[in-house]
Amino acid sequence: MRGKRDYYEVLGVNRDADDNELKAHYRKLALKFHPDRNPGNEEAEEKFKEASEAYEVLRDPQKRNVYDQFGHQGLEGLGFSGFRGFEDIFSSFGGIFEDFFGFSSGRRSRSRAQKGADLRYDLSLGFMEAAFGIETEIELEKVEVCPSCEGDGCDQGTHPETCRQCNGTGQVSRNQGFFTVRSTCHHCRGNGQIIPHPCPNCNGSGQIRVNKKVAVRIPAGVDTGSRLRLTGEGESGSYGGPPGDLYVFIHVESHDFFERDNTNVICQVGISFIQATLGDTIAVLTLNGKKELKIPKGTQPGDLFRFRGEGIPSLRTGRRGDQIVQAVIKTPVNLNKKQEALLKEFAKIESGKLSNKLKNILKSGNAEAS
Ligand SMILES: [Zn+2]
Ligand SMILES: [Zn+2]
Repeated sequence: MRGKRDYYEVLGVNRDADDNELKAHYRKLALKFHPDRNPGNEEAEEKFKEASEAYEVLRDPQKRNVYDQFGHQGLEGLGFSGFRGFEDIFSSFGGIFEDFFGFSSGRRSRSRAQKGADLRYDLSLGFMEAAFGIETEIELEKVEVCPSCEGDGCDQGTHPETCRQCNGTGQVSRNQGFFTVRSTCHHCRGNGQIIPHPCPNCNGSGQIRVNKKVAVRIPAGVDTGSRLRLTGEGESGSYGGPPGDLYVFIHVESHDFFERDNTNVICQVGISFIQATLGDTIAVLTLNGKKELKIPKGTQPGDLFRFRGEGIPSLRTGRRGDQIVQAVIKTPVNLNKKQEALLKEFAKIESGKLSNKLKNILKSGNAEAS
């Protein structure tokens, strides 16, 4: 990937610049490098694209936040990869340019050009994959520009012809009494052009369906319901229109041990009543391997312990939540005679607090040890 300049540097603003400052600086650059004012100047074109991308990110609080925390890589994780061309910029900023220039300066695409459809892909992730982020590849079927005819639908060496029925207007008029009824030309289906020799690869549609692999970078901290947008990875536009976008909907699988509550990770650990009573140090599994946890004397069932910063990073701030450990106290079973006798001995000392039933059991002595 080519190195990108810092967006604040591109616009020439401080990192705490507000919306008005951003807009004013972008306006200056857009006026200077606008393609209509610099026809054929590639350097101006690059500058215009660069400034537009910087403004697109910094004017959006969410993107700006991600960029401030994680830089260009963070945005890639969100599926933002900048603009693909002028069409993209003008369709995103149309209203702004009207403000800037007093007229709409978006380049009119040819009437047939249409933006490609957006696509949806549902991606299942393991608990750990969501917690740490992954780079993965997804495979999907989508419509692409036909490589044989490069999208014009014509067989090699042939060209579209102007429709003779409508003289290229795409509409035909018919007189009906006093009225003139206009309707779409059936011969060219309103395109104004016909393809006399269709491309055999796509039957003249200019598009084919393909299975395509798309690399996706999933940022750490996504959760079920997170949605990533991959700009321009949707279906290709027809007749020169821009491609649609790909939306990846995330579903995170559950985990045997960890449960998730936003950025916190919750788990339960079993400890014996001896450990709970006398205190102990135990090893607890965290997202980053085992960690020691001190169980204090007199721990009660359901007591919570916290490992700070051992949870899942927030998508917005990158700050990690906590791991919360809940103590589950296990009652001992299958005691041998000696253990049982010792417990009874212990119970006698505690007898002031015992129920009558238990006192009776203790009185009947060892005979009761069945
Ligand atoms: Zn073709
Ligand atoms: Zn026609």
